Amino acid sequence: MIQRRISKAIRIGDVIVGGNAPIAVQSMTKTDTRDVASTVRQIKELEDCGCEIIRSAVPDMEAALALAEIRKQIKIPLVADIHFDYRLALQAIESGIDGLRLNPGNISEPDKVAAVVKAAKERGIPIRIGVNAGSLPHDIDPKLSTAQKMVVAAIRHIKLLEDRDFDLIKVSLKAFDVPTTIEAYKDIAGKIPYPLHIGITESGPAKSGIIRSVAGISPLLYMGIGDTIRVSLSTNPVEEVVTAYEILKSLNLRQYSPALVSCPTCGRTEVNLIEIVKQVEERLAKVNKPIKVAVMGCVVNGPGEAKDADIGIACGKGKGILFKKGEKIGVVDEKDFVDVLMREVEGFEG
Ligand code: SF4
Repeated sequence: MIQRRISKAIRIGDVIVGGNAPIAVQSMTKTDTRDVASTVRQIKELEDCGCEIIRSAVPDMEAALALAEIRKQIKIPLVADIHFDYRLALQAIESGIDGLRLNPGNISEPDKVAAVVKAAKERGIPIRIGVNAGSLPHDIDPKLSTAQKMVVAAIRHIKLLEDRDFDLIKVSLKAFDVPTTIEAYKDIAGKIPYPLHIGITESGPAKSGIIRSVAGISPLLYMGIGDTIRVSLSTNPVEEVVTAYEILKSLNLRQYSPALVSCPTCGRTEVNLIEIVKQVEERLAKVNKPIKVAVMGCVVNGPGEAKDADIGIACGKGKGILFKKGEKIGVVDEKDFVDVLMREVEGFEG
């Protein structure tokens, strides 16, 4: 059983992050934020696959203004990602966003930081401080490790907010390097009370990026660290959300969508199991309920896992044995494996 670090709960729109709240899944739009139609279309796709918080880059005033229309057309909380220009933060708040990602230390003048904090405080909008290993301040002690420097940088930003009596704070410390990321989060987890947004930044294209993200995010979650996650991939953001849920499901932290168990196949397999699993996986992508489904490749070792699932099938030559909650409920012809399994899945009520 994972013991989660106790963090201060904050609210981003209607999503609670931290405290005992479920670990929230988020992503970032990859469209031009000024293009409202494309951005809304992408956010709706992400909503459909379970994304709970969405962030959009705000490179200029046109984008900050566009957030108002985007916000009206979507259901999930919208976070504005802003660097340097405090006027964009003020406009984003005016546009009705639910959260800011902004490092106050990057805003040059104290009055401007104060103006952003005041506006965020008045509307209860949290600010995520996001430190990236690639853009650390140059005046931090060079003898410190990169992870230690990231923590020092984050605490400086936090102090700028706390000094203005602002505590709706969330923090991320991201690096491409997995050990650096883990070290940084472990270090800061015991030093601050705020919720942590975890992820591996710029982790790469889908295949290697997923592996790198799993390698970095999973140990942290297992240590109880992390209140919201984002998987960053150079591909469709839907993949980010699907991967995030797979990580959470693997650690028994969220049961949002089906979990598919399938065997690797071996010399005992007498059906085209890989094709059967592919078809089941495609059809399960449209199922929005936590259910464990097993598709196994023989009737020798397959029934064990199939029985352990909510719905499972052990596929033999020409026939398969179907199980529901550990009980054999029928024998299925090979041509019907997928359809019969999916009919049981769709009718399953736990
Ligand atoms: S379940 Fe059967 S087919 Fe699949 S790997 Fe195990 S022994 Fe091989």
